[in-house]
Amino acid sequence: MQLFTIFGNPVSHSKSPLMHNLSFKGLNYNGCYTRYKLKDGTQLRNKFFDLDITGANITVPHKEEAFKACDELDEFAQKVGAVNTIVKKEGKLYGYNTDAPGFLKAIKEFKNAKRVLFLGAGGTAQSTSVILRDAGYEVSLLNRSSGRLERYEMEGFKTYTFETFEETVPYDLIVNMTSAGLEDESLPCPQSILDKVISNAIACIDVIYGKETPFLKFAKEHNKPTKDGSDMLLYQGIIAFEYFTNHQFTFNEIEKHMKKAFIF
Ligand code: NDP
Repeated sequence: MQLFTIFGNPVSHSKSPLMHNLSFKGLNYNGCYTRYKLKDGTQLRNKFFDLDITGANITVPHKEEAFKACDELDEFAQKVGAVNTIVKKEGKLYGYNTDAPGFLKAIKEFKNAKRVLFLGAGGTAQSTSVILRDAGYEVSLLNRSSGRLERYEMEGFKTYTFETFEETVPYDLIVNMTSAGLEDESLPCPQSILDKVISNAIACIDVIYGKETPFLKFAKEHNKPTKDGSDMLLYQGIIAFEYFTNHQFTFNEIEKHMKKAFIF
């Protein structure tokens, strides 16, 4: 039996073990997926080999350490500097980023969307902003502090803090990429800014899943279509599963089983 895990801190809340185990069972694959609370991200590579696992997902706060732990990186993971999926093949660790393609697929339903405003500029914004731009979207970022924006500015993205923000063009999608609302009741940016940008938007999206955040509640009050982070989570999981099982199942075959994790 092949062993898989999710490394992170915390990991107790993660849906990944349920998602992957349902898929292993449904597809008759001899695999088992556990969770591992890893405090020190620099130990990730050692743990991977000590536990003799075949593949792993990596969540907060170790995606950058996971990037460093790999022997080989796929082109996109290399470009964005963050890895959330590792597969061991012939003693080498191969790293991928499936968060970003998962998010890209999750927003495909908004067919006419082109301009996207990210609220937040952390690790998740980093990989998703790049894949969106590569796919032809125009991405701007609004963050409460300026520090994290420097990297985006250097890469040519339009960036704003709450103080410097101005809506020069209407944004089609407003995306909460912050952790505001995850464990508190805060909005990701001042209400006065949200009032303005949401009224022009096609839809509002949150990457947080499993709850209605204050941001999504606010968007509903403005009668806008909303979407939470569940599809992103599902799709990043399906893409990771494809890597774990060496592409022997189709996306649709995996989805059929993995999505059962979302009905509980
Ligand atoms: P990071 O810690 O890397 O970045 C957090 C960002 O949120 C920063 O821009 C920070 O701003 C901002 N922020 C945090 N709290 C607040 C607040 N109260 N008000 C305004 N801004 C705030 O986080 P990640 O990028 O790793 O994760 C972001 C979110 O994405 C999380 O909620 C996570 O759960 C979710 N996620 C969902 C996934 C899915 O599959 N659905 C996958 C991965 C992540 P500053 O720079 O000023 O500190």
